[in-house]
Amino acid sequence: SSVTNLQEATAEQVQEFLNSFDTVLTDCDGVLWIDNNSIPGAADAMNFFRKIGKKIFFVTNNSTKIRTDFASKAQQLGFTATQDEILSTAYLVAHYLKGIGFTKKVYLLGSNGIAEELKAVGIRHTGVGPSDLDSEVGAVVVGFDEHVSYPKFMKAACYLASEECLFIATNTDERFPKSGSIVVPGTGTLVRAVETCSERKALVLGKPHAYVRKFLESCGLNPARTLMIGDRCNTDIELGVRCGFQTLLVLSGVTSIKELEKIRLEKKAPLPDVVLPKLGDLLSLVPPS
Ligand code: PLP
Ligand code: CA
Repeated sequence: SSVTNLQEATAEQVQEFLNSFDTVLTDCDGVLWIDNNSIPGAADAMNFFRKIGKKIFFVTNNSTKIRTDFASKAQQLGFTATQDEILSTAYLVAHYLKGIGFTKKVYLLGSNGIAEELKAVGIRHTGVGPSDLDSEVGAVVVGFDEHVSYPKFMKAACYLASEECLFIATNTDERFPKSGSIVVPGTGTLVRAVETCSERKALVLGKPHAYVRKFLESCGLNPARTLMIGDRCNTDIELGVRCGFQTLLVLSGVTSIKELEKIRLEKKAPLPDVVLPKLGDLLSLVPPS
């Protein structure tokens, strides 16, 4: 299997590529921005997609914010985005629990984004701070929690000792993109800890798992004419491949060129169809119209 470096494609091939999709799904952190800094050229590329009529969705595993927060952040960094174009894991948690008619309370090992999305659909939760054991809890939700603690793990394990208690996780990313040499442990770190102490497996809703896939499939996209852009092979590209989308990997986030080579050799995750150093590099390849 081979990955096409778009920078080595002819102008006709780039044009053909651009004509081959109507919908663009993009990851956020690592493709559009890192933390609060936009990645050079990413906004121009996304605005170009919009200008030439592509439908756009932002698909993020980040569970710490609500959809309007992501839309504001995108706008501040020069992107155009509305709440309806954002698909985030905090929203997916609320959508999932609402969809199954969940009426009990959620124990939240996570951050405010999930709390607010749950509140928006009328689902009760314990809040993100300290709480006493509550007999009304019927689900444990694990998302990113920078204030994770031993007592929180203990509480999650107590709830999960009851078989009827649901166990849901937003995502299992190992690490989050960060510039420089800082390594940020991702939500997968917390999910694995709770899985270990409860001896249960979480239902994971985010990329590349089944629920986000079903959600996207219900949006009426034509898979063959949808492009998924991401910076990780085992979440973004995996999601794209499972859904039958075209896939573009950018090397501005978690995956380096060295890691891509390792993934290729060890067959650890699916490979993308095309690769670019960063999304902003696309514009200089587009033939003048
Ligand atoms: N979750 C959290 C808490 C994050 O901070 C990040 C990235 O920084 C992610 C998830 C990954 O988000 P995305 O899927 O947009 O790369
Ligand atoms: Ca990412």
